[in-house]
Amino acid sequence: MSAPLVIGIDLGGTNCRGGLVTASGALVSSRRMATETGEGLEPFLQHLVRFCGDLIADAGDGGQRVAGIGIGTPGVISSEGVVQISPNLSVLNGFPLARELENRLGLPVRVVNDANAIAWGEGEFGAGRPFSSFVALTLGTGVGGGLVLHRRLWLGSDGSAGEIGHVMVDAEGRLCGCGNRGCLEQYASAKGIVLSYRNLVERKSGNDPPCSGWGGSDGGAVALAEAARRGDLAARASFAEAGRRLGQVLGGVANLLNLDGVVFCGGVSGSLDLILPDLEDELAHRAFAIPGARLRIVAGELGEQAGIVGAAALALELLEEDGFSARAGTSKEDVDGG
Ligand SMILES: [Zn+2]
Repeated sequence: MSAPLVIGIDLGGTNCRGGLVTASGALVSSRRMATETGEGLEPFLQHLVRFCGDLIADAGDGGQRVAGIGIGTPGVISSEGVVQISPNLSVLNGFPLARELENRLGLPVRVVNDANAIAWGEGEFGAGRPFSSFVALTLGTGVGGGLVLHRRLWLGSDGSAGEIGHVMVDAEGRLCGCGNRGCLEQYASAKGIVLSYRNLVERKSGNDPPCSGWGGSDGGAVALAEAARRGDLAARASFAEAGRRLGQVLGGVANLLNLDGVVFCGGVSGSLDLILPDLEDELAHRAFAIPGARLRIVAGELGEQAGIVGAAALALELLEEDGFSARAGTSKEDVDGG
């Protein structure tokens, strides 16, 4: 039998996407479902187990089998795969998701923070490959972060490291969902950039801003980027504000950690061209010369697949640490003909 596949899952608050991933990071098939938590924990777990079962069946249809499962999901996840706090999936708060799924599916399961999964995916198979040490910033509805140091994911003592979106850039600034004020996320996320725009337009005209009716999960940031490219000055200024705030934080990060690079992921990273000039200008002022010159800024290469592929790769790493891949690839039973 060929080398086993690993399931990677990106489990978000509204959508769950998963796929079968090879050891070299290729996504060979994928599925998605809505994340249904309204009926409580047990029905949600049953949905998730069925989803994994469908992917295992997909592998079986192709004559392959699944060696393990990696799940990336928002929140603070312990190294044992306990979801300690998840703002978007509160049904899982305090729940030992990895152990429970292992019991139900009979496969090793690793659960990690979703931004960490994205960082690991880009580091192993995407834009982070040239870097030994880098931070991946996910600019989407919020701002997520994952830190890779010397090709190891830095999770911190409790699994909560990497929350660069909640580094403070303005002590008197906008109130953040985390309870703090002036977090980077409030200026550099899709919602933050649209809010900057609304503030600028409302201040100027006193009228409702033209983007107030824009909807979608990005809060109108894609439409705003188009407006900026057409020359809308307030739109351009809103992306510039995001760039400036990101440059402030990354200057501090460069001085603290002397990283090789920054990988920008998530929906807003498609507008990196609108952010980068102010980011680089601010970074040049904030970072010391040597770490500032070292830091390369690049866009992610894996898009929406990064979280799936990264979660799978992290599961595979766990399996290899346990010596599982040796068992899975050429298990003793196979060798013995059993
Ligand atoms: Zn915050």
